[in-house]
Amino acid sequence: MNLEESVESLKGIGPKTAEILKKAGIKTVRDFFYNLPKDYENFSAPTTIAAMQPGKVVIKGRVTAAVSRFAKFRRLTVTEGVIRDDTGFVKAVWFNQAYRVNQFKPDKEYYFTGNFELRNGRFCLMSPSAAEADEIERSAGLAPIYVAHGKVKSTGFKRLINNSRDRFAEIPDFLPTVPAGKRRESLFKIHFPKSEKSIKEARDYLAYEELFELILAAKLNRSENDKLESLAIPYNKKIEKFVSDLPFKLTNAQRGAAWEIFKDMDKTTPMNRLLQGDVGSGKTMVAAMAAYNAILGGAQVALLAPTAILATQHFESLSKRLENYGVKVALLTGATKKKDTLKSAIKSGEINLVIGTHALLTDDTEFKNLGLVVIDEQHRFGVEQRQKLLLKSPHGLAPHFLAMTATPIPRSLQLTVFGDLDVSILNELPKGRQPITTKILAETSTRESLYPKIRETINAGQQVYWICKAIDDNPSSEATSVKSRTEKLKKVFPDYTIEFLHGRMKPAEKDAIMERFASGEIQILVSTTVVEVGVDVPNSTLMIIENAENYGLAQLHQLRGRVGRGSVASFCYLLTTGDNQPTRRLRELEKSTDGFYLAEVDLKLRGPGEIYGALQHGALDLRIATFSDTKLIKQARDDTEVFLKKPENMLKYKELMSGIKRYQQLTTLN
Ligand code: ADP
Ligand code: MG
Repeated sequence: MNLEESVESLKGIGPKTAEILKKAGIKTVRDFFYNLPKDYENFSAPTTIAAMQPGKVVIKGRVTAAVSRFAKFRRLTVTEGVIRDDTGFVKAVWFNQAYRVNQFKPDKEYYFTGNFELRNGRFCLMSPSAAEADEIERSAGLAPIYVAHGKVKSTGFKRLINNSRDRFAEIPDFLPTVPAGKRRESLFKIHFPKSEKSIKEARDYLAYEELFELILAAKLNRSENDKLESLAIPYNKKIEKFVSDLPFKLTNAQRGAAWEIFKDMDKTTPMNRLLQGDVGSGKTMVAAMAAYNAILGGAQVALLAPTAILATQHFESLSKRLENYGVKVALLTGATKKKDTLKSAIKSGEINLVIGTHALLTDDTEFKNLGLVVIDEQHRFGVEQRQKLLLKSPHGLAPHFLAMTATPIPRSLQLTVFGDLDVSILNELPKGRQPITTKILAETSTRESLYPKIRETINAGQQVYWICKAIDDNPSSEATSVKSRTEKLKKVFPDYTIEFLHGRMKPAEKDAIMERFASGEIQILVSTTVVEVGVDVPNSTLMIIENAENYGLAQLHQLRGRVGRGSVASFCYLLTTGDNQPTRRLRELEKSTDGFYLAEVDLKLRGPGEIYGALQHGALDLRIATFSDTKLIKQARDDTEVFLKKPENMLKYKELMSGIKRYQQLTTLN
């Protein structure tokens, strides 16, 4: 069997079905077999219709007289059918599932499971799942449920997979580290379950397979990085003068991280290091030291930031610090005027440190001697963008690479996805930081009660962030937009300077607003999440986040990190929409300001795809493994090690090697 062939080569899949499947990402025969059930319905131990009690029930029977009608008033299609067995009958009701009308053959028996409950004065079986009796009896009462794709519903996919039942035997082996036939057996068991236990066994194998690929990819990235050559940049003692001139003392964590970076840069294999530090831990200063050291060693440095606001801010703080030491710093964003002049100064080597956004990545930005690339908040950059930067290095030498993030990688992810990455951690905040007090408030009753707090803050000479979800008002959403919130606040506080900021403004407008906020002229900044990443205005001490339950945990933590950056105690209020109960995310955020802890919680609540979704455009969609599978992770780690000891394996296991290309993209920083 050729797993690369189109799904159309399988029995019962014509061009139309193939089209739908392809849209859902199921293109090849392999994709088809790996389209795993999202769950199983348990139809075991049915009762008779006469014996049904209210609540969840399983019954077996035939369907007569199924009809659909459109309920205009409720704007949905109601389908009703009568299910009969030897003891009686019951009405079944489905909403917006018109296909149910044609699902049931009058001469066939089916299992149903759903809630038996009162509807319009009569007990009915509500939205039951259904499956053919033969199938259920073959599979010990367990029926797979597949994600519906357009017209191919779960039952449709079941039919298709059943058509290919005989073909499982042809699925070739994949991994050298498991017994022959393990893969095809596991796939078969997961689609045609025999028992809970057999599902678990199949899952374990498939999770292992997935982790094996992921970890192997990470290890190969590591060895590919190690094959590259870079300029070794020795530690320069002038750094010590730079450090002693700083208006503050470095934290021990900053010292430690900087030292690890200096050691890496002094090697002819490129540094590939991730600097993780919670918001406010002073990552920029570590980057500044690395940059200065590289420049002292004769290299150019590029620093990339995800937004123009942040790039501008880095430019301001770094040029202030570094220009005294003869370092030439430039800013290159979409808004930069006279780009050509600047680009030729970069090309000639006149500029030592260039700070910018994606604009830095266009093909016509050339360097004379790019030796270090720093990417701030690296999860905002895609793999291709990083690749582009590396290609900018002349003489075939790869630049050293430092990525910085305030979204810590939970340990469990680190062991797999980023298994072989060097990581430095800033687990210490600069001295004198005051804690941030976080409180969840139900929006409706308390917005006004925050006004005295706002007044108090501004009267003390401090500033306020007010975060809104939307830019414009939208009739279909309860959320107040930045624009109308600004208007409302202006009415309440006519004496204060209040402005808004959002992502659709022109870069120059955004910069102007940020500048006025940073200088203290604007007292309340009403903004969308454009201020989320890295913006540093230490004088702001109060943040109010509206509709807080709409944000992810990592994002809220980032947002909140915009306050608490100075030496005054800060406050963050999370307003929930209407009277909504606070979510677990919000409660965790209220409890803790530890980004590492919150990242672990986030991983548990949402899965890695979403945390690193932004990092890799949502591509880390593990089908089946979870990062709490520590035993399997260990097994896969050990086995990949053995696998890599035999270079001929790389040639022999072609499917594996081409399959991990995708993971290789995911698990690399450069
Ligand atoms: P982040 O890690 O979130 O990027 P920044 O680099 O923006 O943090 O630093 C936050 C603030 O702390 C900045 O104003 C910076 O100048 C200041 N800072 C950095 N290191 C120290 C230190 N060791 N002591 C005091 N303040 C520091
Ligand atoms: Mg930062």
